[in-house]
Amino acid sequence: MDYDALFQKALDGLHADGSYRYFAELERKAGQFPRAFHHGIGREVTIWCSNDYLAMGQQPDVLAAMHKALDETGAGAGGTRNISGTNHYHVALETELASLHGKESALLFNSGYLSNWVTLGTIAARIKDCVVLSDALNHASMIEGIRHSRAEKRIFRHNDLEDLERHLKEIPLDVPKIIAFESVYSMDGDVAPIEAICDLADQYGAMTYLDEVHAVGMYGSQGGGMAQELGLEHRLTVIEGTLGKAFGVVGGYIAASAPLCDFVRSFGSGFIFSTSLPPMIAAGVLASVKHLKKSSTERDGQKKAVALLRQKLGQARIPYIMNPSHIVPVMVGDAKLCRALSDDLLKRFGHYIQPINYPTVPRGTERLRLTPGPLHSEADIEAVVQALSTLWKDYKLEYAA
Ligand SMILES: *Cc1c(COP(=O)(O)O)cnc(C)c1O
Repeated sequence: MDYDALFQKALDGLHADGSYRYFAELERKAGQFPRAFHHGIGREVTIWCSNDYLAMGQQPDVLAAMHKALDETGAGAGGTRNISGTNHYHVALETELASLHGKESALLFNSGYLSNWVTLGTIAARIKDCVVLSDALNHASMIEGIRHSRAEKRIFRHNDLEDLERHLKEIPLDVPKIIAFESVYSMDGDVAPIEAICDLADQYGAMTYLDEVHAVGMYGSQGGGMAQELGLEHRLTVIEGTLGKAFGVVGGYIAASAPLCDFVRSFGSGFIFSTSLPPMIAAGVLASVKHLKKSSTERDGQKKAVALLRQKLGQARIPYIMNPSHIVPVMVGDAKLCRALSDDLLKRFGHYIQPINYPTVPRGTERLRLTPGPLHSEADIEAVVQALSTLWKDYKLEYAA
């Protein structure tokens, strides 16, 4: 058997439809973000597609806390949480995260992906007859967790309250249910009707599970996410977040009631049997969360950059999706063209914007997704819009109305 030929055949399929993934080998330079050195083309570039939305990955307090914890505690945690891997920093961070979301308790995971996978997988599997109602555009980590649970799953149309209610009505009131959804959807940048979903959850006796990965650090007076911004935190059963995007480091968590967190801590295989995050990571995140709790400077700078980019794209009539969040999707609509534009932006102009193709977004909606931050200057924004304008002309692309 030529196994490699089997692998290659599958990969050839990706090449044929333009969805093969090429990674950019970047060398981020602390203190110079959004600039980085691109090894593939051997030059410095400006990054426009980072999820380090607020540049906390180079924030001095965060780096100092990590250096200090590294020197004091060493490199790794040394075990799973249960077997010698619970460091003081893990506990302090969980306390901080619970308080950030106004919840009794929080539980750390090695990534946001794992926090979704383990929490939904564990609850839906272990609560007898549990039904999961899942938004059609939920992230892969939630989908995989739900699938792993083998619980009954019902997919409701994206952000569609009527469709959600239609499903809820079909499930007996005394059957346990979870409504799983996101606050900010990261590809279109649209926001869920959180309050109305909570109302339906109350009416039909469902738990609510909100993925705030693209909102924590970013929204709310203390960076507690969209639920905090809207004053709805107390209405959600579980708030899930990442420590790797706006908080700038790595890791994931849930914040919820003490019994729920203890349940996942006690039954979640992907939590129990994996070495915990290095203490220095927890220390760095703790500094990041604390900083963003007090400081709105980063959030304000980021909002300004987003507004300016939209304004300039509008003037240049480059088509982009307007939304209530910080994500600026410039629509291309073809996988190969999207890849070509991204290559040209990089090689001709030094702007790095990864093309977003199927299966991350539906075919025909391929895009360049820009996430400007507080450190993108007005000149940077002017330059990237200029480059896009030149390419729009060169490729004879359609302009916005
Ligand atoms: C990135 C992402 C995750 C996973 O978080 P990581 O910390 O990167 O593993 C979960 N949900 C959504 C919506 C995401 O975009």
